[in-house]
Amino acid sequence: MTTETIETIEDFETFADLGLSENILKALTEMGFTKPSPIQAQGIPAVMQGSDVIGQAQTGTGKTAAFGIPVLERIDTSSNAVQALILCPTRELAVQVSEELGRLAKFQRGIRIEAIYGGDSIDRQIRSLKRGVHIVVGTPGRVMDHMQRRTLKFDEVRMMVLDEADEMLDMGFREDIESILADMPEDRQTILFSATMSKPIMSITKRFLNDPVLIKVVRNELTNVNIEQVCFEVKPQAKVEVMTRLIDMYHLKSLLVFCNTKRKVDEIVEDLQLRGYASEGIHGDLRQQQRSNVMSKFKAGVTTILVATDVAARGIDVSGLDGVINYDIPLDEEYYVHRIGRTGRAGMSGKAFSLVARDEKFRLKSIESYTKVKIEKGVIPSYEDIVGVRKARFVESISAAIQEGDIDLYEDVLEMLRHSGYSTEQIVAALAKQIMGVQKNEYSDGNLAWEERRGGERREGGNDRFERRSSGGSRFERGGRDGGRDGDRRGGSDRFASRERSGESRAPRERDGESKRTAAPEAGMTRLFLSLGRKDHIMPRDIVGAIAGEANIPGKTIGAIDIYDKFTFVDVPERDARTVLRAMDGNTIKGKAVQIDIAK
Ligand code: ADP
Ligand code: MG
Repeated sequence: MTTETIETIEDFETFADLGLSENILKALTEMGFTKPSPIQAQGIPAVMQGSDVIGQAQTGTGKTAAFGIPVLERIDTSSNAVQALILCPTRELAVQVSEELGRLAKFQRGIRIEAIYGGDSIDRQIRSLKRGVHIVVGTPGRVMDHMQRRTLKFDEVRMMVLDEADEMLDMGFREDIESILADMPEDRQTILFSATMSKPIMSITKRFLNDPVLIKVVRNELTNVNIEQVCFEVKPQAKVEVMTRLIDMYHLKSLLVFCNTKRKVDEIVEDLQLRGYASEGIHGDLRQQQRSNVMSKFKAGVTTILVATDVAARGIDVSGLDGVINYDIPLDEEYYVHRIGRTGRAGMSGKAFSLVARDEKFRLKSIESYTKVKIEKGVIPSYEDIVGVRKARFVESISAAIQEGDIDLYEDVLEMLRHSGYSTEQIVAALAKQIMGVQKNEYSDGNLAWEERRGGERREGGNDRFERRSSGGSRFERGGRDGGRDGDRRGGSDRFASRERSGESRAPRERDGESKRTAAPEAGMTRLFLSLGRKDHIMPRDIVGAIAGEANIPGKTIGAIDIYDKFTFVDVPERDARTVLRAMDGNTIKGKAVQIDIAK
């Protein structure tokens, strides 16, 4: 839906060229639709002619209006009967379509549109159907339900739309769809929209569509030129780190992160949440209610990052995103096109970042040849970059707060701190550090990309244990309890984590080193005592590497690590404590024998 793609359609430059009624044109202007998208320019005239139509175009190309406008143009409001039935795969999409129809129908008097889906009160639906509805937008299951109860009558249906047909089939609605189609009046018009054309879809069209017109938005129009596509060559274990740097750097406030498996969705969400990013996941295992919750939080901006699999993302409506991140590279080129199509819609520009591990490089190449677009290679933002942008934002937010006023109550805080012997510079710097939430961690700038291969380093993706020990690819600072760590001590180091973002999704935590040391371990964690300390030159990553490797537990489940001169405390999950004791006691870390026990 970029101006560029639209301009390739010369026949219909404007909606007025399509011969639409004044009311629809007025609504389109109000909605800010200036030009028809390709699927609209070709689809609207075909549907208005009355032919059966198969429309194929990627997600986000305006298919709703492509069938919605002709449907609205053909409703006879002097009758009370259902005249159009639109089937959608999910409640989300049914609601979205009915809302878009509502906006398009704003200046047409008396058109009644109703969304009918499972999970909503059937009695309420029956009552409003009784009052008379012209257009029903529903999910197949619930529509079947109403058909069986005879609360929905289709004798007067003139138009039948299957929206996102491939998705409906994927969701197992085939039988429902077929019985609904079989129940429609013979002489109705049937319109099918789909992002892909699979065999089952073709067989449905053969059985139920009459001499259909096929409209396909051609391949090279698929890739939205308004989308800035950049790839980053990243080690697999550094992907979340790089992702958060990109989010910070480009100030991405609404973002869809794609990955190939459900398990990955959960992992990434957990990792992002630990770093203080407001993120949630969506995949096929969620119940409808959970999906709705996740979606409404995302739409309200409470959650800023949505992590999804390709299939799950197809069933949701999100637009106006700042960006899309391909956490991994999709296995199918067409998926890539669908994914990035979620950003940069309707004339806005968007970012599509792909994190490419070495063994994914070839897939990216095939995407490039499929889309005929060269994906530019980006530079991973450095620690300095991130601190820089956060500083700038910090200065901005402070100025804004001062301008807003209402701060008298806090004006004596500076005096109080000065009394404790700190300089104004120190106080402000400490505040900035706390609010900006830029922490140091084990990911040095030189340790993110796979390109920079150094001396003794092995290929990533190999032996996990080796990786963790040699390149520090595991996390050792959890939940902001990082005050007195070795790794945090060296000024000028480039180790950091952008783990905590002020006020976003986690409460401020205790950061003072001393009080932290005496604090009890977090719930569910057991604190262990190790007989090695700073004098033995051990680093947190040595400990994580050894424990994760020897006890065979994921490094990321290991909690706070406090290294003292002669000993160390480390928190591990309660359920793993025994295993760790057994595996580590009498074992060695960095060649030094270690005694380990539950901390008193
Ligand atoms: P699809 O069903 O193909 O995935 P939608 O119909 O949901 O796409 O449209 C995607 C977004 O683009 C919606 O927010 C819609 O309001 C907007 N849109 C559709 N057509 C146009 C247009 N011609 N100009 C501007 N925005 C449009
Ligand atoms: Mg759609």
